[in-house]
Amino acid sequence: MTQKKGIAILGSTGSIGTQALEVIAAYPDFFDLQVITAGKNADLLIEQALKFQPNTVVISDEAQYQKVKTALSKEDIHVYAGDEALCQVVESNDVHTVLTALVGYAGLKPTLRAIYAKKTIALANKETLVVAGELVTRLARENGVNIYPVDSEHSAIFQCLVGEFHNKIEKIYLTASGGPFRGWTEEQLKTVKKEQALKHPNWSMGAKITIDSATLMNKGLEVIEAKWLFNLKPEEIDVIVHPQSIVHSLVQFQDGSMKAQMGLPDMKLPIQFALTFPDRFQTDFPRFNFMDYPQLTFEKPDRAVFKNLDLAFKAMEMGGTAACILNAANEVSVEAFLKDQIQFLDIAEINEKTMLGLNFVPNPAYEDYVESDLQARAFAQSLVKK
Ligand code: NAD
Ligand code: MG
Repeated sequence: MTQKKGIAILGSTGSIGTQALEVIAAYPDFFDLQVITAGKNADLLIEQALKFQPNTVVISDEAQYQKVKTALSKEDIHVYAGDEALCQVVESNDVHTVLTALVGYAGLKPTLRAIYAKKTIALANKETLVVAGELVTRLARENGVNIYPVDSEHSAIFQCLVGEFHNKIEKIYLTASGGPFRGWTEEQLKTVKKEQALKHPNWSMGAKITIDSATLMNKGLEVIEAKWLFNLKPEEIDVIVHPQSIVHSLVQFQDGSMKAQMGLPDMKLPIQFALTFPDRFQTDFPRFNFMDYPQLTFEKPDRAVFKNLDLAFKAMEMGGTAACILNAANEVSVEAFLKDQIQFLDIAEINEKTMLGLNFVPNPAYEDYVESDLQARAFAQSLVKK
């Protein structure tokens, strides 16, 4: 029998993490769950550990170490806490693939450590590529590490490219649902509440990415993510709004031919493909029925109202730490919006002011990203307080 694939899930208690556990549990002869980790949700982490019996668990919040340790004291499971532990567990010899399903800048360091340890990366944590895509992809190349996308749009592009890796891409089109406020005016958006922004029409996801979808920042982050994953120039990436979320993205080759990947919106499929590539495993996921979708529609994104999309394109063109600064500002502004400290439209405004207000480093080293992230957070936070 071939050896099972050892998997570490960073952020197992989140939306992607819990769905990844379902995927892994469905193929016990193929996967061997080695590591699961959570930020603060000790209760769910304990429940998952008891059910799935990984080798190791990590709770980032050190204050909850004792609780997790005590709850798992009768099990044959190692328990660790803190950010450094998160970096160490990905280096274990028994881990083959690291699924980065934690949210935000916190994903950068453990992802880099996994790359240095030559682990395959299944990347959900798009912020890592937004913040430091140049560094991450260079180190991946140098260490012979593959990064397989989990984000549905990037998985779609990747699936379209299988068998075509030698062919030049002329352009890719990332599809966007448009979020809950598609078609709304600036006037209407002034007073929206977080409860409205948290209701995504087609996907059920963590709070941060759901707000990012409502502001179109998610698509902006995905544009930058695509640039690094597929080695594209800014003018080779476009965004098209497709409210039904059936066409998950498209590639146009230099002969003009276009390939799209389609299916019902369900993150389990891209998660599974990233973990089983180059194979496809049989599933019982619901199948697409054309008669349920007699019309698939496409429209332009409203870049004047949803300013984050252009900010992301601008950051991508600036290069260096510009996208790191934009990401940090956005993490601060989204959190402030979720705490009712600012209005919906303030998110893009704080992001823009931070991006334009700070000097960026054109050719950053790792330390420059860390410094830029800290500076941008402080700057954005000062704008929240005004
Ligand atoms: P989520 O908020 O549901 O889950 C985040 C997970 O990370 C949780 O397990 C949490 O405990 C952990 N975590 C959060 N902050 C942490 C920290 N500072 N240190 C360590 N662990 C921490 O988020 P999600 O929706 O599952 O998204 C995860 C990532 O995947 C994000 O980068 C998101 O953009 C990306 N993504 C998500 C979806 C989706 O459908 N949810 C789709 C595409 C991409
Ligand atoms: Mg996506």
